[in-house]
Amino acid sequence: MPAADNRYANSRAAFAHAKTLMPGGVNSPARAFGAVGGEPLFIARAEGPHLWDLDGNRYLDYIGSWGPMILGHAYPAVVEALAAAVPLGTSYGAPTEGESALAQLIIDSVPSVERVRLVNSGTEATMSAIRLARGYTGRDRVVKFAGNYHGHVDSLLVAAGSAAATLAVPNSPGVTAGTAADTIVLPYNDAAALEEAFAKQGDEIAAVIFEPVCGNMGVVVPSPAFVEALSNLPREHGALLVCDEVMTGFRLSLGGAQERLGLEPDLTTLGKIVGGGLPVGAYGGRSDVMAKVLPEGPVFQAGTLSGNPLATAAGCATLRALRENPPYEKLEKLGERLEKGLAGAAKAAGVPSVVQRMGSMVTLFFHDGPVRSWSDAAECDTARFGRYFWEMLDRNIYLPCSQYEALFISAAHTEADIDATIAAAKEAIAAAA
Ligand SMILES: *Cc1c(COP(=O)(O)O)cnc(C)c1O
Repeated sequence: MPAADNRYANSRAAFAHAKTLMPGGVNSPARAFGAVGGEPLFIARAEGPHLWDLDGNRYLDYIGSWGPMILGHAYPAVVEALAAAVPLGTSYGAPTEGESALAQLIIDSVPSVERVRLVNSGTEATMSAIRLARGYTGRDRVVKFAGNYHGHVDSLLVAAGSAAATLAVPNSPGVTAGTAADTIVLPYNDAAALEEAFAKQGDEIAAVIFEPVCGNMGVVVPSPAFVEALSNLPREHGALLVCDEVMTGFRLSLGGAQERLGLEPDLTTLGKIVGGGLPVGAYGGRSDVMAKVLPEGPVFQAGTLSGNPLATAAGCATLRALRENPPYEKLEKLGERLEKGLAGAAKAAGVPSVVQRMGSMVTLFFHDGPVRSWSDAAECDTARFGRYFWEMLDRNIYLPCSQYEALFISAAHTEADIDATIAAAKEAIAAAA
């Protein structure tokens, strides 16, 4: 719990008002701070690596809007692109060159994506990719992994990691038993379980959808054996491999996690960074599979605001900046520095913990030993995480408000920012012990 209550007085008042208007006072549940106790901050503005709340407190931001803000907030080229786009009208419901420009940038960056369809969110991307995989293969069943989150798609909202797990609703009311029955849930990082599922029901499986590097149960990296099983088994059984890179796309490299891991999925879903902070998602992949999407093929998928001109302007400006001046080496160095610093701080405090990372995605788990799957993650000391979270917030470090999320470093963070964060963590972990 925060030390000085009046430090957050304006946010408290705004939250009390919002709760009368919206369920839980929020438009996405993780924002309500439910997993760490207490009440959320209301944000007034953001720039570079910083956020300012309604009380005028300034924070180093490690959420980055839950992933999109890899360049930092209010990045000048993105702000300029939006300012130039607004006077031209904000939506036409007709084709624009901006859509082709964003599609081209995606196709040029992600080698497995030959053609792409733009949508409005990551959820829409995964929902549409699953429908397409079913339409393409003529099969019903989908394999997903416990602790992986693919948005709030009914058939994928089973054992779905952070949001769902944190709120203890692994199967949301409203998701019918019939819908869930077509979803096969397997443990992450378990090649043998995947092999067994394909041996038993291989001819019924339309797709395997997975997070190539998990962020939604905290950072969990796939083992080489698991990557190999994902590469081979679906293909051998005529199922499609759907790589959900909504979080990892353009975050771990220009080509996403698949480039780093040597994966060649049939379909890829994107979101978050691809919209540069505006609502964009995308799904794409093999040209022959994408040819099944309406109006070229029979699989229905549409959107009034899909490919919106403001969204494509922000997305294009972001991807161009990433391609022209790739920040990935810098992010790797900052990530490594933070990983070492957090691990050292936890060790000094004598707290059972492990820091897991790939690139600029980092999680400090209060867990004794490595976290490889949801069953490991579920053993974490989440109460300790809640105390640690508030100790960090009181020190002006804004972390994801759940043990089961990745923190994100942006290109706007500096070595000095990382060192300040480590210094705060030393105190916070000790205080939270
Ligand atoms: C965030 C996320 C989604 C959902 O995207 P939304 O834009 O929130 O609908 C899907 N998959 C993964 C891996 C994500 O991290």
